[in-house]
Amino acid sequence: YDDRDGVIWMDGELVPWREANVHILSHAMHYASSVFEGERAYNGKIFKSRAHSERLIASAEALDMPMPYSVDQIEAAKEEALKASGLQDAYVRALVWRGSGEDMGVASAKNPVRMAIAVWPWGAYYGDAKMQGAKLDIAEWKRPSPETIPVHAKAAGLYMICTISKHKAEAKGCSDALFMDFNGNVAEATGANVFFVKDGEVHTPLADCFLNGITRQTVIQMLKDKGVTVHERRIRPEEMADFEQCWLTGTAAEVTPVGQIGDYTFEVGDLTREIAEDYEKLVRA
Ligand code: PMP
Repeated sequence: YDDRDGVIWMDGELVPWREANVHILSHAMHYASSVFEGERAYNGKIFKSRAHSERLIASAEALDMPMPYSVDQIEAAKEEALKASGLQDAYVRALVWRGSGEDMGVASAKNPVRMAIAVWPWGAYYGDAKMQGAKLDIAEWKRPSPETIPVHAKAAGLYMICTISKHKAEAKGCSDALFMDFNGNVAEATGANVFFVKDGEVHTPLADCFLNGITRQTVIQMLKDKGVTVHERRIRPEEMADFEQCWLTGTAAEVTPVGQIGDYTFEVGDLTREIAEDYEKLVRA
């Protein structure tokens, strides 16, 4: 991704894509002091842009990184980066990290907090067979307890187990991995939240020890507006045997049907299709 034309917004300036570099002694490289957002623009407009900017600031604050920009400044920066990309439909990656400076140790209060925004095209997150039903592995790692780490921050450090679990899943021919939480309840995928359907009602894990996705919140509202009952609750993995449908939600994943998780299988049913289509309409409305 580094060798291409274009520009990246970095600390207030648009810099050539190939020159958007940081020093190897950046604090973030050594201690994971980095938070980010994944956003999508549709028809030239970022969906739920403000909510993403607000979450970016909340994530930075959770890592004790004072944000150098306000929500309005982040909004303007994202708009500038999107415009410079010339793209109408695009993925927008905002990144905030602790740079290099006076400190090389764990404590780094004097090192600058920096921000960059890159924009590029990104099609269906799980590939072109999106509506056929993704196959998921069950991850060996668990989402950590809220007493262990700031679980609601979209922080790079929380993705370490995502990468290793997704690598393992892909090696088995799966598209992703589903995590249980530290108590063994169903949690989320490596970059998306999960929903199940049974007898016309929807069940989704309580988002109290992992990211309460903006897409998750949007889809819950969409379901409620349609009069569908949504249960946000603890879900034991064995319950997956009784669920009829399953889908994932995320900015990149959008609404992706799931056909299989471990040995549990699901149909790509009517409600799944309806929600995927409604979401597609909503983001372009
Ligand atoms: N969980 C994780 C771990 C994620 O990376 C994402 C993607 N940001 C989500 C859930 C879904 O969040 P959102 O709908 O806000 O993109």
